[in-house]
Amino acid sequence: MRRHRNVKIVATLGPASNDYEMIRALFVAGADVFRLNMSHGTHDDIRARHAIIRKVEQDLGRPIGILADLQGPKLRVGAFAASAHDLEDGDQFRLDLDPTPGDSTRVQLPHPEIFAALETGNTLLVNDGKIRLRVDACGADFADCTVLVGGTISDRKGVNVPDVVLPLKALSPKDRKDLEFACEMGVDWLALSFVQRPEDVIEARALANGRAAILSKIEKPAAVKAYDAILAVSDGIMVARGDLGVELPVHSVPPIQKRLVRGARAAAKPVIVATQMLESMIENPMPTRAEVSDVATAIYEGADAVMLSAESAAGKFPVEAVTTMNNVAMSVESDPTYRAIVDASRSAKRVTVADGIVAAAREIAESTDIKAITCFSQTGNTVALVARERPHVPIIALTPLVETARKLALTWGVHCVIVPEQERFKGAVIYAIRAARVDGFAEESDHIVVTAGVPFNVQGTTNILRVAPCNEKLISRVDPG
Ligand code: PGA
Ligand code: MN
Repeated sequence: MRRHRNVKIVATLGPASNDYEMIRALFVAGADVFRLNMSHGTHDDIRARHAIIRKVEQDLGRPIGILADLQGPKLRVGAFAASAHDLEDGDQFRLDLDPTPGDSTRVQLPHPEIFAALETGNTLLVNDGKIRLRVDACGADFADCTVLVGGTISDRKGVNVPDVVLPLKALSPKDRKDLEFACEMGVDWLALSFVQRPEDVIEARALANGRAAILSKIEKPAAVKAYDAILAVSDGIMVARGDLGVELPVHSVPPIQKRLVRGARAAAKPVIVATQMLESMIENPMPTRAEVSDVATAIYEGADAVMLSAESAAGKFPVEAVTTMNNVAMSVESDPTYRAIVDASRSAKRVTVADGIVAAAREIAESTDIKAITCFSQTGNTVALVARERPHVPIIALTPLVETARKLALTWGVHCVIVPEQERFKGAVIYAIRAARVDGFAEESDHIVVTAGVPFNVQGTTNILRVAPCNEKLISRVDPG
């Protein structure tokens, strides 16, 4: 089984995508990575979905990526005596530390560290930015605010503080528990919400301790500012446009998206464009034209993956949403303009032997009739370099490590095949040809490029490039079994 596109699809699982049939159908329709959202559902729910994904993987014989998304330090107001109040423009409203149920003049914000960091003139956003408050006066346990934009406030609504680098730990006690749970269960990627500084990523990486790759969700102005430093310590990036568009003006999100995608591509780290991509498909079987165009834009930019959130987790048409993304991807990627844009936005920084080999592989594939670039890799690092080249032929990654294969499910253009550990280059070439032939990438009369590091099983040694014919004689001569 193979995909006929480069961009990957991440589908969030939830109440609408709980059972084997649905998760299998999402995979068959095109989902490459499943996202388990730690903000919703119990550990038992999540464990059950995880087991189903691994069952689908086993039944269909293709590696599937699992991404566990940690909630992060999300701020919330306390409860109200009546459950909701309408705040009008110009009203005065106080946030404080008093747990007494709130009313139309005040409510608890149970975060003393926020009061310590607030300054007069700061903006507070409540309920996904629907309510906007300006801080007129503040102290160690209160903030008196003017309502700039009113709306309904109710129990435990989220609060965003865009102007301030919050003195908050990157991982709440809940996040630490969820991280340990996810790592024990076995996930390929951990996504960190509301990352503010590189130290946040470093802290999570220490806790994960090699059990999962770390993906930073860029959804705070502070993270946009510190992007280069955060990218340097992350394994992947998510352009988390939902909260980004709350904390910053919505019109600033598209340029930020472009910058983040280009930065991650240049660093050879996978980047996901996320949130509201096909929002109307939560309710409708057909997307709006603007949504289709949004998905297309991310693909034209060369993003590694596009993501579904509520569309697949809680919507009425999860499979249709994945199918829509798949169809948009096939349409965009067959457009000559797509090639031109992706080529023009390739980063040329090459410093290592591996950089040179993968660039040469792409150039050979471009100028001659090559059907695929195959790449032996333990860690997936060389595969990421091949993907950075955004070649116009498929990338077949061959690895003995199932963890590497699953992690690479997120990476642009990569089809991963698990093979036994290799000892000699000659035998490895046979596996590469087999993978290309069996999965329908090449036929007997075709050629492929094979890259590998010899000696095998030593990290970071990619040093061979070979153009190999895919003929049967070669395959039968050395049968790898
Ligand atoms: P969320 O993150 O869905 O966990 O909030 C994505 C976003 O904010 O866009
Ligand atoms: Mn978010």
